[in-house]
Amino acid sequence: EIIMTYQTINPYSNEVEKTFENTSAAEVEQAIVSARQLYLKWRTGDDLAARKAVIVKLGQLLRERRTSLAELMTRDMGKLIGEAEGEVDLCASFCDYYVEHADEFLAPQPIYTNSGNAHILKQALGVLMAVEPWNFPFYQIARVFIPNFLVGNPMLLKDASNCPTSAQAFADLVLEAGAPKGALTNLFVDYDQVAAIIADSRIAGVCLTGSERGGRSVATEAAKSLKKSTLELGGNDAFIVLEDADWDQLAQIAPQARLYNAGQVCTSSKRFIVPEARVDEFVEILKAAFKQVKMGDPMDRSTTLAPMCSKKAKEKLTKQVQTAIDNGAKLEYGFEPVTELAGQFFMPTILTGITEDNPLFDQEMFGPVAVVYGYQTESEAIALANNSSYGLGNTVFGSDIAHAREVAAQVESGMSWLNAGWASLPEIPFGGVKNSGYGRELSEIGFTEFVNQHLVYEV
Ligand code: NAP
Repeated sequence: EIIMTYQTINPYSNEVEKTFENTSAAEVEQAIVSARQLYLKWRTGDDLAARKAVIVKLGQLLRERRTSLAELMTRDMGKLIGEAEGEVDLCASFCDYYVEHADEFLAPQPIYTNSGNAHILKQALGVLMAVEPWNFPFYQIARVFIPNFLVGNPMLLKDASNCPTSAQAFADLVLEAGAPKGALTNLFVDYDQVAAIIADSRIAGVCLTGSERGGRSVATEAAKSLKKSTLELGGNDAFIVLEDADWDQLAQIAPQARLYNAGQVCTSSKRFIVPEARVDEFVEILKAAFKQVKMGDPMDRSTTLAPMCSKKAKEKLTKQVQTAIDNGAKLEYGFEPVTELAGQFFMPTILTGITEDNPLFDQEMFGPVAVVYGYQTESEAIALANNSSYGLGNTVFGSDIAHAREVAAQVESGMSWLNAGWASLPEIPFGGVKNSGYGRELSEIGFTEFVNQHLVYEV
């Protein structure tokens, strides 16, 4: 049995700032009871106006407390304060968007048939269990909670054990915005408790964002009791540079696509696939940008590279890079220990020469490490992009946009960005294929993942 400890350990100072008590079995039971009662009340659909008012208020609170909320995330997992503020803004934009579109997304949908009248009611499914990671402490909760609250699905939350302060603050804010008890209950529970919650007949579905390993366990538990699940898992996203790419624009975008959030984004560009003749030039572009980063206190607005989220995460990445090198990868830049700062800093690193037999070829590296590959023909570039067990996102860089679209369409992945790094907006769906998971979050597609599409047919 693994007992989780929920602690805020500031990855810049390494200080344990806060420790939280685990949630007892009785408290879990109470949370399920409250959530279930709320679902039974909400399922008629009459309370949508009241729920929209809560989300409007939540958006206001997020905007009013932008910086103080951002600071909580920075203390939990080390992200740059400016990036944390951007995350709060994005969550507030989810409030605006889903309040504006909830009625439309939940409106009954007529189906035209030759032999009768049919329509689909969009109804709440029931209480959901959400399991969320630490890399975007507010955003990850917001992107499942806000739509599902409007749908009428109450939520239990198990957030990452290393960002409990942010998770609790988000849940408290939801209550302060006027949500009834049971709408979102943050739990400090261990894996066995999560499994027991999933198995409980009062729970209707599970959504998880996290690693492939975590996803497999949680999805297995869900499958055992026939619950729907959505999984947003890892990625090893390709960034394909076509022959006609604009290299000035590339120099602006490529380094940031890797380093944002200290490289700890599921859909960071992780594998740069470049025309063979220009690999050296590309490595120079990355190197020039990586040399310029300023590591330091993530609360300091002049810092440009944050520490990694934890000692464990840094150790894992260090081991992965070492394994890659031991198996023939060439270290082009970085990977020197950062000794002048106490926090969990990782020097931005560039690797080339990772061959298919390298154990790191098909592994996600969750931190500031870029891998660069060369290609001879475009079909080779596409084949390399697809030679991955993951299929989350990818970038295609090329001036002929019609051609770039054709290339993007050939990559097996859930998302493609043309001439840009990854992005997340309320109106565009987010999610992957292959071992990057299934289902979508955000947009109308994500909004309706846990909606009962209830057919009514009249002859
Ligand atoms: P992780 O270990 O899977 O943790 C994610 C969450 O799952 C945490 O709350 C964790 O709890 C929980 N968890 C893990 N195993 C569990 C189990 N057996 N039962 C119940 N809960 C379990 O993931 P991570 O490595 O911290 O997060 C980074 C990963 O998330 C990367 O692979 C990244 O690509 C992926 N990610 C994907 C997306 C996306 O949208 N596709 C977005 C962001 C991140 P504890 O913290 O208590 O272990």
